[in-house]
Amino acid sequence: MNEIELPSYECVTRHEFPVLANLFAGSARRQVTEVHLHHTFVPTHADFRAAAARHGGDEHAAGLELCRGMWKFHVFDRDFADIAQHVSIDPAGRIWLNRNWNRSPASATGFNGDHGRGPFMIETIGNFDEGVEELHGTQLGAVLTVIAAVQLAFGLEADAVKFHNEMTDTKSCPGTGVDKGDILAQVSEMRGSLQAGSSAPDAAALGRLFAGFMAVDYGALKEGALPA
Ligand SMILES: [Zn+2]
Repeated sequence: MNEIELPSYECVTRHEFPVLANLFAGSARRQVTEVHLHHTFVPTHADFRAAAARHGGDEHAAGLELCRGMWKFHVFDRDFADIAQHVSIDPAGRIWLNRNWNRSPASATGFNGDHGRGPFMIETIGNFDEGVEELHGTQLGAVLTVIAAVQLAFGLEADAVKFHNEMTDTKSCPGTGVDKGDILAQVSEMRGSLQAGSSAPDAAALGRLFAGFMAVDYGALKEGALPA
């Protein structure tokens, strides 16, 4: 049997992500209307730590391995066109660039929009049902940054975010331990600090990284190329 060629995902920090969000909005291909927040449920924080241990403490390798695992599960078991989400956020706050951002996500049936218009989908690695694992610290900071940066780039209000559990009756996602009111209040704060600006990351290097990411579209293999 042939070895499957696995996607080679890149990641950025929360200080770098807003540059990508602005490049995406500026490319004017897909209009984002809201941000969808999920937790993975599986893999968990514990799975991330175990993967890092297998890689001799290399958390980057662990994040990549978990993203590739989700890609395989979504494409081969769920029969999605590609990994469902536009980004995955690992427990150390790395923001992994997954499904091509010009392609609609597999977020929730009936809520995915189309390739011209619709949601931007985040999967947060962990199980945030009450008493299991916690969304906090660097990972929470990255989640808030992605929501706020995408909203600001597309001129959306701070409440333009949906939890998966608002779109289905069958899931607690992004976890019973995550409160929508708390998240909205923190997103508002994050929008304020992003608008106040901070030290500029290397925009040229991020521009190249973003162009490279958007040039790859695994979903085209099953769904055909996106309209030009
Ligand atoms: Zn979900």
